[in-house]
Amino acid sequence: MRASDLLHPRPEGLYCPPGDFFIDPVRPVNRALITHGHSDHARSGHRSVLATQQTLDIMGLRYGENFADTTQAAQLGETIVLDGVSISFHPAGHVLGSAQIAVEHQGTRIVASGDYKRQKDATCAPFEPIQCDVFITEATFGLPVFRHPPDTEEIARLLKSAAQFPERSHLVGAYALGKAQRVMRLLRDAGYDRPIYIHGALERLSEYYQTQGIDLGTLEPATVEGGKQDFAGAVVVGPPSAFADRWARRFPDPISCFASGWMRIRQRAKQGGVELPLIISDHADWDELTATIKETGAEEIWVTHGREEALVRWCELEGIAARPLHLVGYEDEGD
Ligand SMILES: [Zn+2]
Repeated sequence: MRASDLLHPRPEGLYCPPGDFFIDPVRPVNRALITHGHSDHARSGHRSVLATQQTLDIMGLRYGENFADTTQAAQLGETIVLDGVSISFHPAGHVLGSAQIAVEHQGTRIVASGDYKRQKDATCAPFEPIQCDVFITEATFGLPVFRHPPDTEEIARLLKSAAQFPERSHLVGAYALGKAQRVMRLLRDAGYDRPIYIHGALERLSEYYQTQGIDLGTLEPATVEGGKQDFAGAVVVGPPSAFADRWARRFPDPISCFASGWMRIRQRAKQGGVELPLIISDHADWDELTATIKETGAEEIWVTHGREEALVRWCELEGIAARPLHLVGYEDEGD
């Protein structure tokens, strides 16, 4: 069977005709397979959802328990057959619960990796390369200029600044699912044992991470009672959107930090008024993308959401067939 008969783009998302399901559909569908809980991949309103238990839990936290009519939890590595198509979920190393989805039918295997990274991350299971005929890769940071430094170095810069300016607060912008918890965990692994103050938008997800055995230490709400002095020397974590509003003005002489792969681009940090850019990404950088493509042994690569052209070109130079997938509606909230 031709790979494009097994999976191909439709306006709703990536569709599998023989299995009659979509992967990460952007519109409501009958049967959705979801790679991870970021809002551009995991939407509410599908009739049935198949995902890892953690992704289902995260969707429940974000959209309410009735986000779908029916749900089914996929165990990592276990094969589920849908209308003769074999499906299995494998860790993607992106955020808690994130999975690649392998789809196999009549001897052809395609792996839709969703979003992924290869850097070590104590808040989720590590990416596992899966041998396949076609590998679908993201390309958020699909340019050679994107090389993420070790996250421990970035956190060390944050802690150094906090020690240097004990009277100021450090406001760290980090996406609510995944990045925020990873930053907190990195702080703990670096020996930071003071309470970490969090914006209300991070509360439920951070609590959920703790119930899944990811120790984030003492987290306290970043609320105003007691006046500004309370936050002198504090590390405060909040979603990037909160930094533009009144919430951010309650902190004493704050140093604005932002944890994102985009912080590699100096101009971008400057425009956003970020004083301390932290290059911490939940996506593969250029070296991770190209190494992963080789590891999967795939003869063909489909490239989606991001800088498709450069990665397609790289594959061609390596003698690997490649094409952009042109899926619409993915603007990752967790870069
Ligand atoms: Zn994502």
